[in-house]
Order: sequence, then structure tokens, then C-alpha cells
Amino acid sequence: MASRLDKMLLAAANLLIPIAILVFATGFFPYKPFMPGLATYEDLSFVEGRFGAGTDIPEPIFDKVVFMVVDALRSDFVFGEGSGFAFVQSLIRSGSALPFTAHATSPTITMPRVKAITTGSIPSFLDVILNFAESDTTSTLAGQDTWLAQLRAKGKEPEKRDDRVGGDGNGNGNGNGNGNGNGNGNGEQRKEGGGGKLVMYGDDTWLKLFPGFFEREDGTSSFFVADFTEVDDNVTRHVPEELLNSDWNGMILHYLGLDHIGHKAGPNSPNMHPKQLEMDSMAQMIYSAIEEEQHLESTLFVLLGDHGMNEGGNHGGSAPGETSPALVFMSPKLQQITNGGFPSPATLTGEFEYYRKVEQSDIAPTLAGLLGFPVPRNNLGVFIPEFLSFWGTVEDKARLLLRNARQILKIVRATFPGQSFPDKVDESVGCDGSLDSGEELACKWQGVVGALKGETETEAVLEKLMDFCRTAQDIMSSTASNYNVFRLVFGSSLAFASLAFTVVVLRSKFLPLTSTGIFYALTLILYTIQIFASSYIEEEHHFWYWTTSAWLFYLFIFDSRKGWFDIPFLHPAVMVMGLHRVARRWNQTGQKYAGADDIAHSELLRNSVVLWSLVGACYLDYAMRLGRAVARSIGPQDPKAEGGERRRLLGLAAVLPLGVTAFLFKLGFTARDAPELVEGVADGLVRWVEHYVSLVGAARMVFVGIGVSVVWVVVAEGRRRRRSSRGAEGAVADRHGLATALFDFLTLFLITQTRTQNIPLYLIFRMQLFFLRLLPLNRTQISLTTLLLTHTSFFSLGNSNAISSIDLSNSYNGVSGYNVLAVGLLVFVSNWAGPIFWSSAGVLLLLDGEKEGGREGEGEGMGQGQRRTEGISEEKKEEGRRTVRRWVEMEREHLAATPPSSSSAESHAFPPFHLDQPNQPSPSSSTPSSFTSANSFFNYITLQTLFTTSSLLAVMMACTVLRTHLFIWTVFSPKFLYAMAWGLAWHFGVVLGLGGGIWLSGR
Ligand SMILES: [Zn+2]
Repeated sequence: MASRLDKMLLAAANLLIPIAILVFATGFFPYKPFMPGLATYEDLSFVEGRFGAGTDIPEPIFDKVVFMVVDALRSDFVFGEGSGFAFVQSLIRSGSALPFTAHATSPTITMPRVKAITTGSIPSFLDVILNFAESDTTSTLAGQDTWLAQLRAKGKEPEKRDDRVGGDGNGNGNGNGNGNGNGNGNGEQRKEGGGGKLVMYGDDTWLKLFPGFFEREDGTSSFFVADFTEVDDNVTRHVPEELLNSDWNGMILHYLGLDHIGHKAGPNSPNMHPKQLEMDSMAQMIYSAIEEEQHLESTLFVLLGDHGMNEGGNHGGSAPGETSPALVFMSPKLQQITNGGFPSPATLTGEFEYYRKVEQSDIAPTLAGLLGFPVPRNNLGVFIPEFLSFWGTVEDKARLLLRNARQILKIVRATFPGQSFPDKVDESVGCDGSLDSGEELACKWQGVVGALKGETETEAVLEKLMDFCRTAQDIMSSTASNYNVFRLVFGSSLAFASLAFTVVVLRSKFLPLTSTGIFYALTLILYTIQIFASSYIEEEHHFWYWTTSAWLFYLFIFDSRKGWFDIPFLHPAVMVMGLHRVARRWNQTGQKYAGADDIAHSELLRNSVVLWSLVGACYLDYAMRLGRAVARSIGPQDPKAEGGERRRLLGLAAVLPLGVTAFLFKLGFTARDAPELVEGVADGLVRWVEHYVSLVGAARMVFVGIGVSVVWVVVAEGRRRRRSSRGAEGAVADRHGLATALFDFLTLFLITQTRTQNIPLYLIFRMQLFFLRLLPLNRTQISLTTLLLTHTSFFSLGNSNAISSIDLSNSYNGVSGYNVLAVGLLVFVSNWAGPIFWSSAGVLLLLDGEKEGGREGEGEGMGQGQRRTEGISEEKKEEGRRTVRRWVEMEREHLAATPPSSSSAESHAFPPFHLDQPNQPSPSSSTPSSFTSANSFFNYITLQTLFTTSSLLAVMMACTVLRTHLFIWTVFSPKFLYAMAWGLAWHFGVVLGLGGGIWLSGR
């Protein structure tokens, strides 16, 4: 038994894990307190001389905006050769459009991008998490200052000044309609009558971020990426009508089809060009309306992508393709400032860089200036200087930039409380020597103050203002200034303490050193070292693939040394290794060879018949297993007992509806999500499923079915155990059977949450498990094998350490509304399905060892070997029997050679923790209590905790040490998010929670 001290230490080590993560995360992703409330115009009265003059607001140029977001609209889709945006390109040539490449910072996913575009701030990385927890009210922008809020507030302003619309305090449609009807062409009247109204069509992210903001809205969810047309038609159908309405100031459209095409088949998909043509025709429709409709004559039309896409068609990270969306401003009025247009298609100036590059956050202050409202309060963007030519006087231009600068200065002052930023020329602010960020900004601000005061060249004032704003934008959006280093160090120290406790628990197991122990230690050391190299993080799968291969090879060598297996090819370790090679090839992952050939996307699996045969085989396999589990629960476990056959049939009949529903759900889901994968597969059936099976309903039936079955087998086993303990006849507790049944039901759940092309992997995993069960592994070996296979399977299912590889396709199975907990759980399960399978399988292997250890006599051992082989082909069954028979023979010989000891039966099959030679009793085995059954799970979780804490510590240290590294946001931060998921959801939910449950059920 593990000592009480050890137990407490391990508990403490585990308790420290979430605390360490929390402390570190709050230092690494500091919570940026948003300044609440709407900004008002900055007071410029501190400026003496010509640029001051208080409330003089430069006249706005536009009164309406059409904001057309095309999801994942990469710069080259609009600006490059062969683009489908012929009309937009013609506007660029004619000078009616101003084109830019708008830099989108990582994470390049929609919600943080919309936040950046509307607030002008740089969303923290935590928004990635909030992106998946969208209903979290703290993440809405309802209470924050955005250009949408400003545009809405703008219409209400005149009420204070003008009696005519004074009664229209709530901005109802009637009053606004009147104002518009007669107000066109007159700036003042437009302001009074227009306004305050927004309409929105498209991606419902906007509706979640801005609840209650829109007069009229129609959201579409981006649930089925196979849907290229419906998502966009649902937007387009509203546009012609809205273009005739004069009551709105802002119309937001968000098209998803192009993004879906990217996700499905990449940027070079044959569907890409037609979609560009469609989007271009929408742009043409809107632009023509602006030219023709009088109420739209002062409308600014913005076409942009929220992010781009990489060569695989995905996004989330920071590859140039992902961070370079297009941004085009269009209006006939722009001809006043463009001096005859730009060449189009354009030539590249950098990777995916066309024309000038601006920041995505610059959009908010630019709209503020052009439409005439204060710059949103938390903005870090800078007014795009090309538009300054709209204003004739330098005073107007300077005031626009100055208000932008003052607004940013407020944030700067809050960020550097120790630094003074005087509004008067102050000799004490130095610009010499090496300056830290705060000092540099103070120096630049002095440059502005000096230029405003002095009689310098007027253009020099604008230059100084731009210089200050841009520097502030760079510094404030760069990361170094944002960390709380104390928390980073404190969090890392807690992780170190957790590791230290775990090592203390393991202290007695270090000696004598065994080759398995050395292998484990080496794995741990190499893994933690490689975390400090960004390229190794990107290609982490190689580490696990090769380590697993090496380990399996070691098992083969180690085991064949004993010579009990005479056909090396068919040695179980070799079989596992061969299957491992196939699994590795299943999904290409990592950065370097993303999109390269793999099995999941090969011609073979594109052949629907092959794919669905494999998938069907997988479902059938599980239906049989589950049928047996149910059969066991309704009678004696011995299949040869009376009525055994009947019970098996009954069991199969009981689980068949569940299996069929699960299969039909997968078929129906795939028909919607990836229709190309069901082409040619029983068309009639597919159409029937599409028509009659509700996907939400079917998924719920599967989940409920699994839940009910689990309760059934648990209750049945509980009754059996009670009867058995009373000594009732024929009632033999089948603990191991219960654990296996739970594992099988769990796997059906995992398969439901797995992409169709990956389902055949479960056949491979199954076979690997089968062969592993033939190997006489000790506890340490089981722990290490489990650790390696959990990680290998994570990557072989197509995951990586990049945000863009998170698979969201199964996150809404059975969920109709939005439910953070349900969706969060489903996202986790569908991305960690492989690790969940293997860590549960690892517990089964431990239970195997225990069972063997607890039994005496080879007869039963044989029977068990046979039972394990059920469900696999006859050939393999026979081989398995031979294997086990041989092994049992070896055991028999060995037993005969071992000095008789009360513990020999236990020690031979289940040696103490530090031994890797199952057939040699260790010195400590003379005390049976040192390796009683509870110990093996204790030792297993100790080793798993050791890995979790040390990898967490390594990631934390890497993020702390490399916090100013170029790749901190692109590689290390996502890695930390993954480490959080491994450390919290996986370690606690799966290893301790689920694993503990299966362990208890099997004892
Ligand atoms: Zn997307």
C-alpha cells in the first residue's frame, strides 16, 4: 500500500496543477480592464494656438456605412491575378476605391477579429477561449465602446439640441424615416434625422457580440462547412430590399461561404472562383445602389476579410496567408482623394501583401473620422492617413489625428502610471540614451506638444502625430509590456513544487534503475527540452511517433530475449509497431508538411465504399461487444452456461437500435458535412436519412442510449456483486467485464465524436490494444505505453499545437441551442478522442495485470487469453491463443523454478513498479503488501502526474523565458493553451476521473 504520506503528497501535487495554471495564465494573458462607457470627443483646450479651438469637429464625409465582411477573404482573392473580383478591381483602377492589406493579428479566427475591427483594440489571446464560449456575457461587446455603439449613439445626439426631433427620444422608426425622407444632401439635417440604426445579416457571431443592437437581423451559423450556398443566399436575399430602405446608418453583412470553401478544399478549390464572382456581383449591386439611390449618396462601402487562410484553407494561426485579409473602401467620393486610381491586379510587395499594409485596428478610428463620431474608447488603431486629403485645412487634419492621439494617450497613461506625459513642453522629459517603452512614448508625445506649440511646418505636426500614434500602437499591442512577470514566475514555481512532490512520491522507486525507468526519464527529459524550440512544438508529433516506435522496438527486443515467441514477425510488439506505422500516416499534421499526402485524404478513402466498409466494420465490432456486455448483464457470465446463446442474441438485439442509430447519425451528418464522402454509398439510404433523421435528435438518442446502457450494466453488475457476496449460486462478480463494458460504451461515444475519415483508426487502435494485451507488461511499462499512445493518437487523429487544427465539426452534436458546457465538452472529446481511448485502455491493461496477478493456475489464465481474442479474425485468434499458450507454458516453467513463496503468484505477473522483468521477483516483492492492487493505479497516476507537471513546468518556463520571442503569440501561446487543456481537462477529467471510474468498476 502506498503510504499515507505518499498519498497526501500526490494529492497536493495534483491540487497544485490547476492553481499553477490559473496563476500563470492570469500573468500571461493579463485581464485588460476595458474602459467602460462611450467615448466623447477629446477636449483639445490644452492646445494653445491654431490647432486648439476646442469643440471644432471636422465635418464628416459620410453618413452611412455598408460593412461587407467576407469571411477569410485573403488579400490575393481580391487584388491578385485571376481574382474573381473584376468589378472591385475596376473601381480600384478608376480611383473610386482605396485598397489595403489589413494585418490581422493571431488568433486569426472570427470572434477576436470582429472585436479588433469594431473596438480598435487588440483582443487578448483569452478571446480564443471565449470564442468557444461565445455565450459568455462578459465577452459580448454590448457594454463596450465600438463604432457600432458610436454610430447608434450618434443619431440620438441632436435630440438635445433640436426640438424638432426632441420627442423622438427612443429613436423610433417613424421619426427617423421622416428625417431621412427630406434630409438628404444637407449635412446638418442628415445628422438630426438619420441615425442610430443598424441592420445585420450573416454570421451570427455579430448577433452574439452585439445583442439587441440591430433593428433587423438574420443570423446564420457556420455549423456545416459543407454549406457553400445557403449561408450566403440567406444574406443576399435581404440586400436588395435593405438598399431601398433609408432608415439605417449601418448595414453589416457577413458572408461565410468563401471560408467554408477554404475549409473544405483549400484556396485553390474549384468552387473558389465562382464564389469570388458571386461576392463581386454583390459588391457591384451595393456600389450601383450607392451611385443611383439618393439616400445612399453619402455611403461608405467597406469590403473586407476578417482573416485570411493558409494553403490548407484553415486559419487561426499567424501564417502570412492567415494574417493578410483584403480591405477595400469604396465610394464615388473617393475620387476626390485618389488622384486617378491604382493599378489592379496589383503586384505583390510582400507575402500576400498588396498596396499599403495597415492594421485591422485602424478601421475603427478611420470610420470614426469619416462618419463623424468619437474614436472608440479602447482603440489602439490609427486613422488611415490616405483619407486625410478629404479635409482641406491642416487644422482639420491635425485635429482628427490629435483626438486619435489623445484617446490613445489615455490608455498609455493608464499602462505606464509611473511615467509622466506632460501636455506642456517639459525639458525634463529626455529623448536621449536607451529608453524603455514608457520613456519612448513620453518623448514622442513631447514631440507632438512641441510641434503644436511651435510655428513649425504644418505638415511636420501631422508627422509627429502619426509618429506618436504608430509608436503607441506598436508598443501597446506588442506583448512584452503586458506580462505580469511575478505571476509567471510564481505560477512556474507552483508547477515546480507540484513536480517536486511527485518526485518525492516516486523516490523509493528510483532504485534500482531499470531500463524502463531510464526510457521513461529520457522521454520526459527530451520532451521538456524540445518545448523550448518553436519548430519542435510545431512538429511535436514526430517526437511521439519516433519515441513510440523506439519503445515498441525495445519491448520486442526485451521480450524476445526471453525467447518465448519464436516467430519474430508475428510477435505482438512487432504487430503493434506495424499498426503504429499505419496510424502515423493517417493524418498529416504539423506546420511543415501541412496538406501533404496522407491516408485520410487519399484516393483510397475518398472511395466511399472503402471508407464506409471500414466505418461499418467499426460500428459492427462495437455493436457485438456491447451486445456481449448486455448479455453478460442478464445472466451468468459463462457463455457455455445454459441459455448462453439465447442471451447473446438478446443482448445483440438490445444494443442493435443504439448501434444502428449511431451509424445512421454518422451517415446523415457526413451527408451534410462532407457530401463527397457519401457519394455512391447507397444513395437511397442517404437520401432517406437526410430526409427523415433529425441530426440533433439522432445524436441525442445515441447519447441517451449510451447513458441508459451504462446505467443498466452498472446496476446489473451491482446486483450480481451483492448476490455473489451473499454466496448465491451462479452469481460470480464479473468486475473486469464491467470495466470492459464501460470502455466499449465510452468508445462508441468517442466514435460518434470523430470525423468519419478517422473512424477506421479505431479498428487500428483496437488491434493494437489486442496485441498489447498479449505482452507481459509490468506497471511501469503499461504507464509508459499508455503515455506514448495517448499522445501519438492525439496527433494521428490530425491534431497539432496550432489553433487552426482544432476540429469543431462535432461540437454541436445533439445540441440545438448554445450551451457552453455541452459544446465545450463535445469540442474536448472530439479533439481528444484518441487520448481518451488510450488512457482508458491503459487502465484496462492495468486491470488485466491485476487479474492475472490475483489468479493462480494456468487454466484460468488460458481462458482469459481466449476471451480477450473475441471479435478478432479467426487467424489472429488462433495466433493469440498460441501466443498465450506459449506464454503460459513459460510461466509454468518459471513458477516451477521460483522458490515457493506466498507472493509468487502475484509477483510473476504483476511485479512491483520499478521492475521491468516480469519473471523475476524483486527484492521488495517479499512483502506482498508493497504491491497490492491499489498500488498499481496509484503508481500509474503518479507517473501520469509526473508527466503532466513536468511538461506544464517546461511550457511555463519556455513562455516565461521566451516571452519577448518573435513566436510567442504564434507558437508558444497556443502551446500553453494546449498544455492547459492537457493539464486540466485531460489530466483531471480523463486520467483521474474517467480512469479512476473504470479502475474502480473493474476491481
Ligand atoms: Zn473559418
